[in-house]
Amino acid sequence: MNGPARRPQAGAWQTTEQVLHATRRKVYNRHVGGVFARWRAALVLCTQAVFYGLPWLQWQGRQAVLFDLVQRRVDCFGLSLATQDLALLVLPALIAGYALFLFTAIAGRLFCGYACPQTVYTEVFMWIEQWVEGDRLARIRLDSQPPGLRKFARKTLKHTLWLALALWTGVTFVGYFTPLRALLAGLLHGSAGGWQLFWIAFYALATYGNAGFLREQVCKHLCPYARLQPRMFDADTVSVRYDAARGEPRGMRRRDLPARAQGRGDCVDCSICVQVCPTGIDIREGPQYLCIDCGACIDACDQVMLSLQSPRGLIRHVSAAGLENRWGWREQAARLLRPRILAHAALLLVLAGVSGAELARHGVAQPRAPGGSGVAAAAPAAPAARAP
Ligand code: SF4
Ligand code: SF4
Repeated sequence: MNGPARRPQAGAWQTTEQVLHATRRKVYNRHVGGVFARWRAALVLCTQAVFYGLPWLQWQGRQAVLFDLVQRRVDCFGLSLATQDLALLVLPALIAGYALFLFTAIAGRLFCGYACPQTVYTEVFMWIEQWVEGDRLARIRLDSQPPGLRKFARKTLKHTLWLALALWTGVTFVGYFTPLRALLAGLLHGSAGGWQLFWIAFYALATYGNAGFLREQVCKHLCPYARLQPRMFDADTVSVRYDAARGEPRGMRRRDLPARAQGRGDCVDCSICVQVCPTGIDIREGPQYLCIDCGACIDACDQVMLSLQSPRGLIRHVSAAGLENRWGWREQAARLLRPRILAHAALLLVLAGVSGAELARHGVAQPRAPGGSGVAAAAPAAPAARAP
């Protein structure tokens, strides 16, 4: 479980063996409210409303967004790309990738903490888990109980809800490649194709496994972005950091005296920032690649500081240079106009310009006739289209 993390002592080879083959500690993260928790919830709801809602939208008699594999065309709100135009999709993908690159250089891993599908689904699965099994301590107690009716009932309910959500996610995902309404009709009448069933099951199991069980292990072992992120950072990149100069030496202290008068820093070593962390790390040990900049530890620590009548921001969004030089947000904001960011932004603008010009040149912005296409020949959507 996630209590304060202990840094492994890598002296003797036996210890190194233990470090390399350490068994996974299950993360029982504690619920936390606050500004960043509300932002995370809002982002989860927005991204999921788009993901689950988009395939239901109709546009000129066809599904508004459809990567139609049978007719070999992509529809997006009246824009149609036939097979020969699909290279145009590379440009928006490049723009999205480069925008992520630029955004990471400015503000760290906010994408990971607020919009990455792995984080978003893990968050939703954790909401279900907390609703069914209770908060951190209740879950630890439940897991340590011997098998019994109450434990069985709660676990069954949790996994049923997880599986239902995962299955719906699988159906929605396949609904981007084959018309969703026809797919549902096929599923209801038992006439869905084998490939459709395969991809629904595959995506559902991937969601169930990644968000229900693997969770932070995906960031730790599978995500290439987590490994690349230090290359995108510089001293002015804003990220979640612990202010060690203010917090140390940590330890319990009296409320009625200033911390320094008691020979202490502001950190009371309550470990709540560790308990709320979805990846189970201790941000007080410094920046770590497992930190997804979700801000949960900021919310938690701000509440502790408030209860101690100390200023908030012992853990906060700040750059390494800002922390070292004790910068306020104005000095921090001024560093946005540094050459590296300006160069990235200029390249992004060029990419966006080329992309816009290419789209205009191919004339795909031409509105198509109902049921027809601006580029590709139109044909009615196949109800039992093959899955991806
Ligand atoms: S929540 Fe704040 S005070 Fe408590 S251990 Fe973390 S940094 Fe220290
Ligand atoms: S250390 Fe803080 S910001 Fe980083 S993942 Fe943990 S809770 Fe989120």
